[in-house]
Amino acid sequence: MSANQERSFIMVKPDGVERGLVGEIVSRFEKRGFKILALQLIHPSAELLQEHYKDLADKPFFPKLLAYMQSGPVAAFVIQGKGAVKIGRVMLGATNPQDSAPGTIRADFALDIGKNVCHGSDSVESAEREVALWFGDNIKSYSRAVDNVIYE
Ligand code: UDP
Ligand code: MG
Repeated sequence: MSANQERSFIMVKPDGVERGLVGEIVSRFEKRGFKILALQLIHPSAELLQEHYKDLADKPFFPKLLAYMQSGPVAAFVIQGKGAVKIGRVMLGATNPQDSAPGTIRADFALDIGKNVCHGSDSVESAEREVALWFGDNIKSYSRAVDNVIYE
């Protein structure tokens, strides 16, 4: 896979969906130049969330996190493009919105760590795992003429 084909898994969490932020958040990634490879509103099961957040299973906030993530549908999507994982994290901002840099999604739309509006993969390996977990084989690549304008 070439550098321009790096993928990240991004998810608008239930608070973001309820507050009507799906379009705004997807739009930020589109405008940056990323290709949307998959996009779905999902009511995640406890099993899916336990697998998604399995590295955090021992954390004291884990039960609260699972309840939060099951409080409504999430908008899960996959972005593809150069630096997708790192740029995705930068665009989200620090986990705690109190520390997120101005202009990031969490700083612009959130105040509390337990209601921080969105998720983004933290490494290329996590991204591959999360894309497979949430979308399985339901991802089909496509080409865009505009990529010739976005990339040098
Ligand atoms: N979280 C929380 N309290 C904490 C740390 C994390 O409620 O002290 C929640 C928060 O919603 C965060 C999610 O757990 O986004 C996953 O935590 P992680 O450390 O993976 O942060 P992220 O990768 O989402 O920035
Ligand atoms: Mg994380």
